[in-house]
Amino acid sequence: MRIVDIRERSIAISRYRDPAIPAGGLTTSIVALTTDVMRDGRPVIGYGFSSIGRFAQGGLIRERFAPRLLDAGAAIAAADGSNLDPLRGWSAMMRGEKPGGHGERCVAVGTLDMALWDATAKIADEPLSRFLAHVARPGRAPLRDLPVYAGGGYPYPGGDLALLSDEIRRLRDLGYTRAKIKIGAAPLAEDLRRIVAAMKLLPAEHLAVDAMNSYDRGSSLATASALAPHGLWWLEDICDPLDFETLAAVAAAYDGPIAAGEALFSAAEARLLDGYGGLRRDRDILLFDPVHCYGIPGYLRIIEHLTARGWPRSAFWPHGGHLFCLHVVSALGLGGAEVNPLCFAPFGGLADGTVPASGRVAPPQRPGIGFEGKADLHELLETLLDG
Ligand code: MG
Repeated sequence: MRIVDIRERSIAISRYRDPAIPAGGLTTSIVALTTDVMRDGRPVIGYGFSSIGRFAQGGLIRERFAPRLLDAGAAIAAADGSNLDPLRGWSAMMRGEKPGGHGERCVAVGTLDMALWDATAKIADEPLSRFLAHVARPGRAPLRDLPVYAGGGYPYPGGDLALLSDEIRRLRDLGYTRAKIKIGAAPLAEDLRRIVAAMKLLPAEHLAVDAMNSYDRGSSLATASALAPHGLWWLEDICDPLDFETLAAVAAAYDGPIAAGEALFSAAEARLLDGYGGLRRDRDILLFDPVHCYGIPGYLRIIEHLTARGWPRSAFWPHGGHLFCLHVVSALGLGGAEVNPLCFAPFGGLADGTVPASGRVAPPQRPGIGFEGKADLHELLETLLDG
């Protein structure tokens, strides 16, 4: 049992539902990993992509990590020969890599790791949530009823407040009861107008704000002070991801929940965040993105370390906004998941026909991640197999 072909392509994605609105040239990598296992006369294929928000990783995937997976041959099969072993596949990709220097190689590895788990869960004929629960939490059933929130609320280049309000109304119509909007790109007074507009449509305790790591120490503290009376759900990505001193100063001054960790990529960085970021285990939120953290094996190390240090699993709300993260949250018993229903098409959002009920959903029940149940995304991923 082995992988016989890996294909990658870098494609443009948009933060907006209308892709004509400029979104900063963002890209992502899509990958297809073909195995030598046949089902119904066709090879089992695993699909993956570079989650959302970091750029495509085509060079690293094509030149370094995909060749290692292919060269590993049957060495990445499970011990009983019944499947591929995604943990062995991950070790093959990481062979020869030195500690440190996480950069964005973690995203390249995480992209292929997603496809490996999709393929192996399909070979096992199980949804990824169940397959991963067996591997990571033996004896514990995956969660079938996950809290979710809608990510989005990026600033519009014109007519921002009206378009933001339209977006939140649409999210409510789609069944979302909680949402997260962006701040930090405009002066504080403008951001406060965005927040007030959103709070007309959602209760403050169901509204999170994401500053996209844009503040320095002074503006971090000024913003936290201005937001404190509103009682928001959480305040996310306040300052530079490695400026733990500023983060700790905000945590000391701001009573509401803080969310951090989206732009940290390894267990070593997670340790630093926990040790020096001043975060509070009784209320704060951990955003590490499983794909951006070297995939599931890297993410499991982060959870293992932080739960051993006293963090509850309910504190983990992974960044991502796509189907893969739903399975991870379900399998690992985490707090909840982001969903991007109106942005980053076709990657964000739920499977076709899935509607949140009271702000909660179940992960797809098809074998694998279930991309096949999201027609626009599956159609795109299948183009990797052309030619
Ligand atoms: Mg964020």
